[in-house]
Amino acid sequence: MTSPESNQIKKKKADLKVVIVGDADVGKTCLLHRYLHGEFYDQTPNTIGAAFFLKQWGSYNIAIWDTAGEERFSGLSSFYCRGANAAVVCYDIRSRNTFQSIEDRYTALLETAAENCSIVISGTKKDLVTDSNREVTAEIGAAKAKELCERWNSKLHESGRCPFFETSSLTGENVKALFEHIFETLTQGCDKTGADKSDTVDLEEKKNCSSKSRSKCSC
Ligand code: GDP
Ligand code: MG
Repeated sequence: MTSPESNQIKKKKADLKVVIVGDADVGKTCLLHRYLHGEFYDQTPNTIGAAFFLKQWGSYNIAIWDTAGEERFSGLSSFYCRGANAAVVCYDIRSRNTFQSIEDRYTALLETAAENCSIVISGTKKDLVTDSNREVTAEIGAAKAKELCERWNSKLHESGRCPFFETSSLTGENVKALFEHIFETLTQGCDKTGADKSDTVDLEEKKNCSSKSRSKCSC
């Protein structure tokens, strides 16, 4: 017999999957916390393996996986990237090394993401950036976002906006814009009634709607 609780869980099964990756301490957990709870979370515990959140966006349930950046968890992170419809790839604007990790570590992890995975890059901790400590320019960050989108044949926002955001979880700058950009991209052109019919949605099928309204990245 199924309890009311288990029915609740069943109803909340995710339609789409978003993963957040990037080196340890670049601010992944704070970014998600700022978006979900509207506040800066100063005392973030180290993410062990991955943490899962469910966000309701219109009629969609979107699963968001906050992964651990530590080397020893990289096997786990690749598990969580499997079948992802979108990925937020984070680096610290003040650290060239964390930017270099995008190529050295995270592109390999994203090989297991869904076809047309929407890749968005976030340069983090903007509030701490000065002319003297900035190590990655916005132009270089945006160029990387464009390059990855082309490599993954990413689904892009209908506005054609470059999927690149410099964010601050302290001030909130660009945090909402980043997540809404992803959710709008993922759900544009999809048949929502199809998503409502069943509480168990096949992610393999969902990705077919990805190519419908693809637009060109204008960055
Ligand atoms: P994660 O390992 O990538 O999940 O990083 P966390 O989200 O745990 O953040 C690591 C550290 O950076 C914490 O001490 C945060 O308080 C700090 N931090 C994260 N994002 C920001 C930000 O946007 N601005 C500032 N000033 N500090 C941040
Ligand atoms: Mg974390």
